[in-house]
Amino acid sequence: MQRNAGLAEEVYEAILARLMALKIPPGSRITVDNLVRELAVSQTPIREALGRLEGEGLVVKTHLVGYSAAPQITRTRFNELYELRLLLEPDAASRAAAVMTEEALAELTEAAGVMSREGGADDRARYSQFARQDALFHDRILEVAGNALIRETLAHQHTHFHIFRLMFHARVTEEALDEHAAILAAFAARDPEAARQAMRLHVERSRDRLLPAFDL
Ligand SMILES: [Zn+2]
Repeated sequence: MQRNAGLAEEVYEAILARLMALKIPPGSRITVDNLVRELAVSQTPIREALGRLEGEGLVVKTHLVGYSAAPQITRTRFNELYELRLLLEPDAASRAAAVMTEEALAELTEAAGVMSREGGADDRARYSQFARQDALFHDRILEVAGNALIRETLAHQHTHFHIFRLMFHARVTEEALDEHAAILAAFAARDPEAARQAMRLHVERSRDRLLPAFDL
């Protein structure tokens, strides 16, 4: 049982890493048989992983066609997403700073720290790990801020999986680390205005880092 759970997780991670690093390009077919050969596992954990990725919006299942990678988000959708984030996240960061506990701050610091660790993983695996940790970091801030509807609304967009898939580049991850550090410093100082500004800057810079992907 334990072994099966571990295998399912490993297969999920392996497929997620391929999607995030565009080794499985957006919109392309995903053949279960190919993955069986590539990952040397049976169909069961692969179908399980694809179902989970479908729930996360990264995989689309079409009747009689099968699985494919979700198409890349459009420029319009990207702009809409960042407009939404800028409306909600700086304000949430400000409210989180006002009610930040030592425990939550320690968790956020840990989440940010995991992102900066080099580890032994290859670039692809590291990149998808970073996307996941970034999603957790932002989600945890929204949780501390306390509005469950705002948290659900943003979680439902699966923002981080989609935006990180726009570009597979080390710069995307390195620059974000400093911006997260600034957000954490504002939380540590329990300074709502500094937290608001640091979050606004982080979301704006994230947008500006990824925008060139549409000109490629
Ligand atoms: Zn971030």
